[in-house]
Amino acid sequence: MTAEREVVDSRWAFLSVGANMGDRLGNCCQGIAALCADGAVQLVARSPFYESAPVDYLDQGWFINAALKIRTILAPSDLLIRLQSVQAAAGRKGGGVRFGPRILDLDIILYEDLVLDSPVLTIPHPRMHKRRFVLQPMCDIDPMVMHPVLGRNVQSLLEQLNGDAQALRPWPCDC
Ligand code: AMP
Repeated sequence: MTAEREVVDSRWAFLSVGANMGDRLGNCCQGIAALCADGAVQLVARSPFYESAPVDYLDQGWFINAALKIRTILAPSDLLIRLQSVQAAAGRKGGGVRFGPRILDLDIILYEDLVLDSPVLTIPHPRMHKRRFVLQPMCDIDPMVMHPVLGRNVQSLLEQLNGDAQALRPWPCDC
């Protein structure tokens, strides 16, 4: 009898991780560990961490942010459910101010070259090309990764933000 081997079709994706409440760096690092705990999500690369000024809703503390490249066997909708469950386990409650303070925020930025716009999930993330705290750490991992709608790589999208006041500074991490 021929031994059967399970063939798992994994996909790459980029995620954004951030926090501006409590132990911000600890929340991010624990969130990444929880995300990758069972093998359905595998970490390929983590960018350096940055501290970033809030955007949109300004009356809140600075964030700690990083980008992740992952491989996953989860479909986009299941990956979103996984991210939301990790956020909830970190203590994040529903509601609150849109773009407001958060214990842990995990977003899907890219999922291969998928373009998706459903009531619960938009990929590429609709604000990724406007956010230095997303584009800079993605460039640290792979500046050539393409935005599948805009047809430009993340390095080019980051250069387009030059002159835009979105403060970002490196944040040391040994986790
Ligand atoms: P946030 O407050 O940034 O965590 O936004 C969470 C909401 O955005 C959830 O209701 C998600 O269904 C929705 N959402 C839409 N697109 C995405 C995405 N690409 N990644 C994460 N959340 C998303």
